[in-house]
Amino acid sequence: MKIICIGRNYAEHARELNNPLPAKPLFFLKPDSALLTNNNPFYIPDFSHDVHHELEIVIKINRLGKHINQKFAHRYYSEIGLGIDFTARDIQQECKQNGWPWEIAKSFDGSAPLGDFVPKENLDLKNLNFRLDINQKTRQQGNTSDLIFHFDELIAYISRFLTLKIGDLIFTGTPEGVGPVKLNDHLEGYLEEKKLLDLKVK
Ligand code: MG
Repeated sequence: MKIICIGRNYAEHARELNNPLPAKPLFFLKPDSALLTNNNPFYIPDFSHDVHHELEIVIKINRLGKHINQKFAHRYYSEIGLGIDFTARDIQQECKQNGWPWEIAKSFDGSAPLGDFVPKENLDLKNLNFRLDINQKTRQQGNTSDLIFHFDELIAYISRFLTLKIGDLIFTGTPEGVGPVKLNDHLEGYLEEKKLLDLKVK
């Protein structure tokens, strides 16, 4: 399986990092070794002093597809969940300045914690609130009505380039409020009022 992550998909987040808004979806990959499941703790890697949380809604692909028409993209996933796109911001900054790929800042072991999934039926996918609390304080809050490229548009776009396979995950981008995590932080992710993600930083 592969993990596809979308960058700059919420305007306010692009602005907080002084990035221009993309004219088309921007994506990069994480390997399966980045996955962190079962609420296992996240260990801050020793190569970064500025690891940021990016809470994101995650789509789980449930059918094989290539060149998927946007009209039919909704048939390619039945569940959504929450994940964190951990980013070594100091290293990413160095990559951006030098025009290097981002992988070293984005795809390290444990950089993709994944919470529980819920069926997408009965959810209003175009108006979903989600948030990240750290130590009981809300630090990120988003609503899918603010997505620049919505889920079905992302699936159509990505599948022009990559074959989507059962079990592939799409991290759909983070809203504003990203920031560093520190030792012993307790991260809790909510989709509406349902807690789907719970992990500690070690
Ligand atoms: Mg991200």
